[in-house]
Amino acid sequence: MKIATIADRAVLVIDGTVVDIAAASGDRFGPDPLSVYEQWDAFAEWASGVGPGTEPLDEAALGCPIPNPRQVFAIGLNYRSHAEESGMAVPEVPATFTKFPASLGGPFDDIEVTEPMVDWEVELVAVVGRRADRVAEADGWDHIAGLTVGQDISDRALQFAAGAQFSLGKSRRGYGPMGPWVVTTDEVPDRDDLALGCSVDGETVQDARTSDLIFSVPQLVAELSAVLPLLPGDVIFTGTPAGVGVTRNPARFLAPGQVLETWVEGIGTIRNTCR
Ligand code: ZN
Repeated sequence: MKIATIADRAVLVIDGTVVDIAAASGDRFGPDPLSVYEQWDAFAEWASGVGPGTEPLDEAALGCPIPNPRQVFAIGLNYRSHAEESGMAVPEVPATFTKFPASLGGPFDDIEVTEPMVDWEVELVAVVGRRADRVAEADGWDHIAGLTVGQDISDRALQFAAGAQFSLGKSRRGYGPMGPWVVTTDEVPDRDDLALGCSVDGETVQDARTSDLIFSVPQLVAELSAVLPLLPGDVIFTGTPAGVGVTRNPARFLAPGQVLETWVEGIGTIRNTCR
């Protein structure tokens, strides 16, 4: 099942068509994208019986699949390869920060590049379905509704200003493009081992697999939900592998006019132009 957002309304994407969830369900679910996750079990059961619609999918119309999450978790240094290139020790607990929700963007939105040190970070993003409160790792996946593709765009200067302020440095306008949709885990080849990467103007700069995550998705659900409840529709940016721009020699950063493409196997590709 693929769940997307068009004009702020939750839709199902089925065989190249779009089905408006509120219209098709007689207002039982939607149109608010968050409401789908708040009633996840009932929604998933209803949606499993929905067939293709009559309206063809226009990819350019897709917005951020979860434009209004209550909580956004993001994990730093969650791939050994990225910890090594950063010269940082591999963390013993997830290095957690937030991307403020107003920084999230759509899968084909422009990225505002107004600063000299704007960097890319491909990430697998997990979306919470069932509320998770003190959940064991073995049950972690049961609380995830689906997965999407994310970019944890980072202004490295702001990120390390005033010591370190990851949350602000990763929350400029449009710094969290996501999408193109949320895919349920039954539709990906292997939810624990997906290829992911990104390219700048067609040159691949990150290429890895999620099986290399230090803290896997179910481990993150366990670790985070031990601290506070994870709410339906919350998103977890799970961290980036090696290949970011700041650790290159010489360092490389995004510039206006460049096109950033970001993909995760079995989910899709998002494309963002730097302006
Ligand atoms: Zn990141």
